[in-house]
This record gives sequence, C-alpha cells and structure tokens, in this order.
Amino acid sequence: MVSVEIYRYNPEVDAAPYMQTLSLPEEFRVRMVLDALEYLRVQDPTLAYRRSCREGVCGSDGMNINGKNALACITPVTQALSTSNRLVVRPLPGMPVIRDLVVDQTLFFKQYERVMPWLITVDANPPIERLQTPQERARLDGLYECILCGCCTSQCPSSWWNPEKYLGPAALLQSLRFILDSRDQARDARLESMQDPFSLFRCRSIGNCTWVCPKGLNPMGAIGRIRLELLRKE
Ligand code: SF4
Ligand code: SF4
Repeated sequence: MVSVEIYRYNPEVDAAPYMQTLSLPEEFRVRMVLDALEYLRVQDPTLAYRRSCREGVCGSDGMNINGKNALACITPVTQALSTSNRLVVRPLPGMPVIRDLVVDQTLFFKQYERVMPWLITVDANPPIERLQTPQERARLDGLYECILCGCCTSQCPSSWWNPEKYLGPAALLQSLRFILDSRDQARDARLESMQDPFSLFRCRSIGNCTWVCPKGLNPMGAIGRIRLELLRKE
C-alpha cells in the first residue's frame, strides 16, 4: 500500500486543519495524483478539491504535492514519491483555504485583472481584423500558453509577503504577453503602471515560479524582460 497524507479542513465542522492519513493500493504508483484523489474520494466522499479537464489544460487542480505546487492530473504518484515514502497533498500555499484542497483565488484573479489582460487599441477598427506577421506572433510564444493555474504565484515568497501590492509571477507573465503584442497600443501605460516599488520590483529572482510552472513557462524570465522593456522606454 502507498501511504498518503491529505490536508483536511472543513470550517463548518473542524476546529482546526489536520492531516488525514490514508492509503492507496500499489497499482496507484503508476497513476496520476488526481487518479489517487478520485479513488480516495470514493472512500471518503467529503474530500473536496477542484478538477475539470484532467489533461493539464484547465488549471483547476493546482495543489501542493510533496512540497511542490503542481497540477494533480499530470503529476505521477511515482514522481511525488521520489522524494518521500508517502504522498503528501496540501492546498496551494499562500491562498486562503475554503475547504480541504480548495483555495480562494479571488486575490489571484484581482491581480490578473490589474494588468488589463485584453488588447487596448486607439485606432479605428480595421475592416476585418488586426493582422500580425509570423514574427510578431512568435513574440507571444512562452507567454500565451499560461493557463492561470496559480501554481507560480502560490509558490512565490514575494507574493506571500505582499499579496496585495506585488502582482505576482502569473499576472506579470500575462502582462508581458500584452506588452509584446504588436496589436496592442497601451504598451507605455502598461509599463508605467508597474513603476512603483511593489507591483513588479518586489520580485527577488529566486525562481520558485519557474521551478513549479506545469506548462514549462518562465515567469521569472518574463519579469526580467518587463524590466528590460522599462529601461528601453526611459
Ligand atoms: S522569481 Fe520573482 S516571481 Fe518568481 S518566485 Fe521568485 S520572487 Fe516570485
Ligand atoms: S505561469 Fe505557469 S504556473 Fe503560473 S499561472 Fe501560468 S501556467 Fe500556471
């Protein structure tokens, strides 16, 4: 059997959070962590977590697995067990727990909204569409693939310390996606909005964000690129 520890907390009945010890049949070693949770929820239907696509695309099942944020649906149990003899599952750190593995992402999406994640234009609309060359489109590679799972921001110490003031790696990577978009006409305003000491500059370049991103993106690199764009602007 595989030993499992899961963070449990139902504020309606529990005085405090606790770790529940459970076990999985051996065959789950070669399955994904989400498969293990589905099995455990059949044993205990009160276990709460988010999931949707099961393909690493929707970003719903971000959680902390043996100390590292990841998507449960694409994290093999064996990978988690490579650092420990048991599977330990906790909610994303730095975000308020609603219940068990479900966290409140209100602030995470508020920070996303702050970077105005949409194209801003001042020109009149073209007759059909705003065109890009292949090279202009290629600038968005490594940015548009973000699924807003929150794994990076939740593992970022600067976000833990200044959750309201620091935008966090996910929102900053998304910001760069629009700063570099040839169709957007608010580049300077976007950059100016981040010139305070916190929004962008609280990043300490430790790289937790890049370490955990399940899509293989580089939020720390994106933050460095925004700083470069700010220098170019001056
Ligand atoms: S590199 Fe910056 S954004 Fe990434 S985890 Fe560290 S402080 Fe946070
Ligand atoms: S950058 Fe990666 S870890 Fe961060 S929200 Fe996007 S997909 Fe998730």
